[in-house]
Amino acid sequence: MARRGILLDRDGTLIDVVRDPELGVVVTAFHPDQIRVLPGAIEGLRRLAGAGFLLAIATNQPGAAKGQVPWGAIERTNRALVDRLREAGVAIAALAVCPHHPEGGPGGDPALIGPCDCRKPKPGMLTALARDLDLDTAASWMIGDAPSDVAAARAAGMRAGLIMDGRRCELCPLRGEADLPCPDRAAPRLDLLAAEILAEPRG
Ligand SMILES: [Mg+2]
Ligand SMILES: [Zn+2]
Repeated sequence: MARRGILLDRDGTLIDVVRDPELGVVVTAFHPDQIRVLPGAIEGLRRLAGAGFLLAIATNQPGAAKGQVPWGAIERTNRALVDRLREAGVAIAALAVCPHHPEGGPGGDPALIGPCDCRKPKPGMLTALARDLDLDTAASWMIGDAPSDVAAARAAGMRAGLIMDGRRCELCPLRGEADLPCPDRAAPRLDLLAAEILAEPRG
């Protein structure tokens, strides 16, 4: 029987972005030492898994295509995150990565540059995970912090959960994006979003 799944974005959803206060730039973690699990994430994942949801990660990681980080560093960081979650009692059934970027960047791996079907907002990673894990897509969720996560969920026929901090409107990922589909649920942290999902009546 098909199971219900929760597909999770990585950066800004499970772990924090990395801020360099000196340079004033924000990048994604590319070394295991940079992994900072966001407040509420472990608790939210435990509650969702405890309710029978299978957990998986679907993440865009264009750093190697842009020439910013070696692909091996991205893989090591992803593995370290899955290990970290397992140590906290949270099992991740699968992790899907889109390594591509449409334009790439200086020094980027040419094999990773160009259009693809997996980079969110495209639904390729979500549909592949749903197939591999035998998920009931209409009863499964994609949870992320960006409009592309919501759009990917919609394109895959899944429900959409958005992590957003309503107290910081200037950072709202939906700001100025009038055409975007709305998420089914939104909350500032994963534990609060999990509570909303689990409070829904089962159809
Ligand atoms: Mg994100
Ligand atoms: Zn891709």
